[in-house]
Amino acid sequence: MAVPSTRVFLSNRQPVRPEQSYVLCWLLSSRRPTWNYTLQRAVEHAVLLRKPLVILEAVELDYPWASQRTHQCIIDGMVDASRHFSMYQVMYHPYVEPAPGEGRGLLEALAAAACLVVTDHFPCFFLPKIVAVAAARIPCRLEAVDSNGLFPLALTPSDFPTAYAFRRFLQKNLAEHLEQLPKEDPLRGALLPPPPPLPAAVLRRWPSALEAGIPKAADFPVDRDVPVVDFSGGFVAGQKRLDGFLARLDRYAEERNDPDADVASGLSPYLHFGHVSVHAIFAALALQEGWSPEKLSKKKDGHREGWWGMSAAAEGFLDELVTWRELGYTFCHHRPDYASYSSLPDWAQQTLEKHRSDPRPVTYSRQQLEEARTHDPLWNAAQRQLRQEGRIHNYLRMLWGKKILQWSESPQVALEHLIQLNNRWALDGRNPNSYSGIFWTLGRFDRAWGPERPIFGTIRYMASENTAKKWSVGAYLQRFGDRGLFAGR
Ligand SMILES: Cc1cc2nc3c(=O)[nH]c(=O)nc-3n(C[C@H](O)[C@H](O)[C@H](O)COP(=O)(O)OP(=O)(O)OC[C@H]3O[C@@H](n4cnc5c(N)ncnc54)[C@H](O)[C@@H]3O)c2cc1C
Repeated sequence: MAVPSTRVFLSNRQPVRPEQSYVLCWLLSSRRPTWNYTLQRAVEHAVLLRKPLVILEAVELDYPWASQRTHQCIIDGMVDASRHFSMYQVMYHPYVEPAPGEGRGLLEALAAAACLVVTDHFPCFFLPKIVAVAAARIPCRLEAVDSNGLFPLALTPSDFPTAYAFRRFLQKNLAEHLEQLPKEDPLRGALLPPPPPLPAAVLRRWPSALEAGIPKAADFPVDRDVPVVDFSGGFVAGQKRLDGFLARLDRYAEERNDPDADVASGLSPYLHFGHVSVHAIFAALALQEGWSPEKLSKKKDGHREGWWGMSAAAEGFLDELVTWRELGYTFCHHRPDYASYSSLPDWAQQTLEKHRSDPRPVTYSRQQLEEARTHDPLWNAAQRQLRQEGRIHNYLRMLWGKKILQWSESPQVALEHLIQLNNRWALDGRNPNSYSGIFWTLGRFDRAWGPERPIFGTIRYMASENTAKKWSVGAYLQRFGDRGLFAGR
């Protein structure tokens, strides 16, 4: 099945130029060769135009929060992609900018001989801006393809105030899209002419990142205080992570929130860098569950359980992967102000304003927070995990956010701390879900909760003591606590 037109956004009004040399696929956020509507669309154009396919994957140095950690994930992905693409008659050009600004002009140079350019539509971070700039500069048509979620962003009517409202919408509208998955390997069986060598001038100025061996993130002038972590990026490691998760899926429903059990998928960085597709995850899960579309329930009442017709664990997982994840993408797609304090719902702004001047028994500076120097051992442990592993256990991440609200001079300062700490240290940061989680801390997608409390007002409150009573955190504190293995690092 061809890429549905609802997935394709036209970014400029330039023509397709059939007389030119190739179709250019510019991978920006779906950095993978499989289950990828963007690549599939580029292949479809190349086959129709009988032109070769050139695939560009690049990374700059001077984007916000660029670090060794994020760079290494992207390089890992390039290595996997390069191996995969070498099986086919396509030209894959991975490029890692060696010094700030040196990559400037590469896209335009390649687009100069392109019939058209196909790229990703990603609704967040600096990516919409660079696509808009590119669209104005290149002489041919630029299409941005939505490979983000199971539900096409273009068909969402607006943003949704709660997960419940979005779940109801999905239950009414998602079914037909579950039968329209992208091709697993869009290059398999595609009849493409051999790709031309890239012009010598292009290769001299912007050589392949893998030409002289695999580069190391440490060689690049990005934030060196945020070092590489013990994590492999790329779609091969991502697939392995998915297989391992599916093998222990039955524990997800009961133990997802237990920090010591740590049974969640760990897929969020792979989803963020686009190394694993939500469609691939859904297809693997459906296969394992023996699922088919007839199993969907006729009841569309917005309840978490019972609609998919899968096991409780699979339904719980899909509620995170589809409802919550796509709620955030939908929000960013419709709300360019997604990162502003004023995008919070009115009730949340009002209650936070009412309690703005409440005395704060304790406040911490950004540096104290960043260095895990608070009075709260569980919070410090979560912050250390973020620094050490680039992630925080899901349940503790909520607590981590709530405490930053409690310990900051104002909700606006808390928001700034949250954005900076999350996006600087988390492998999955800089994503629509980063803003979902951060703003959820301050009331987005939530409702008012009683009793009204100091500082929080009616924003949902969480306490470390309750978390430690509710869940087992002993092993977690052993690893990341003030006296744990990683303390002081
Ligand atoms: C303060 C705060 C900051 C957060 N920052 C980020 C972030 O930067 N990037 C990010 O991807 N998520 C973020 N989240 C959401 C959530 O914590 C992570 O998605 C989840 O912990 C990732 O772990 P996992 O892949 O093992 O999740 P699983 O439980 O295995 O879930 C599967 C997938 O569903 C999605 N998902 C799960 N929980 C949520 C959620 N609450 N909201 C939206 N999508 C979800 C993710 O894509 C995840 O990979 C944040 C939450 C909070 C409270």
